[in-house]
Amino acid sequence: MAERSDACLYIVATPIGNLSDISQRAIEVLQAVDVIAAEDTRHSGILLKHFAINTQSISLHDHNEQQRSETLLEKLQQGESIALISDAGTPLISDPGYKLVTLVREHNIPVIPIPGSCAVIAALSASGLASDRFSFEGFLPSKQGARQQILQLLVGESRTMIFYDAPRRLEGTLADMITVFGEHRPACIARELTKIHETITTKPLGELLAWVSADANQLKGECVLLLEGAKQQIDASETEINRVLSLLLKELPVKKAAALTASLLEVSKNNAYSMALKLQQK
Ligand code: SAM
Repeated sequence: MAERSDACLYIVATPIGNLSDISQRAIEVLQAVDVIAAEDTRHSGILLKHFAINTQSISLHDHNEQQRSETLLEKLQQGESIALISDAGTPLISDPGYKLVTLVREHNIPVIPIPGSCAVIAALSASGLASDRFSFEGFLPSKQGARQQILQLLVGESRTMIFYDAPRRLEGTLADMITVFGEHRPACIARELTKIHETITTKPLGELLAWVSADANQLKGECVLLLEGAKQQIDASETEINRVLSLLLKELPVKKAAALTASLLEVSKNNAYSMALKLQQK
């Protein structure tokens, strides 16, 4: 293995479905290190066996990461080399490893990435949505109220937003996105990437929800949800004007609600007034 001979921590990406996606370098590192720290040793055992990797593995998951990191640090300090893997994809990306990497770096021990599969990047690369600037948002909260609050914070976000989601929650998430961003905002569901039933579908949110609701297969497996960013400043502020108007219209007559919105958001009174009228007619 053309890798370091002194102690270091390798962060090794593993496939997100298709085993052929593992890199040659990943296999070599996993064979050569003294210990593999795996999120779930039984799950990773299947992968390691497939590639005839016999390296000893120990668990490192969300519930033991703090204490396990101390143990692994001691091993590194004794000159051992360690590879960290997660159940699938790149460790630390919505997976354990952050505490370990921080601790190891604090002790000036090298941390070396062995890049490979990552569902966010695979999904973005094939989604057809803007890829020059994006924001990875991880998993949204499972409770609707908390989820809508987080989405509200993203109303003005102009970068492509990427979320991990469980398929059983997909309909709820899409419905909340429609409430916050409107049914016309383009979005993509990238499901079962690199696997037999891979589907990557980009449509306006409203159509996407109708499509998944009509086809139970779309609610199976694993998925990444991507959302186009707000087009221009005007999009963001229109959404914001509508949001403030909707709140004020519950308490005030149209004229007052429009005037207050105009001064709160520093927008034209006429514009706010015509938008208020439209909201009232809905
Ligand atoms: N560390 C992983 C990575 O690099 O992508 C992500 C781990 S996170 C716990 C698992 C989530 O990633 C899934 O719920 C799903 O949102 C996404 N994911 C993982 N594999 C996927 C696949 N093959 N197709 C679509 N989404 C996937």
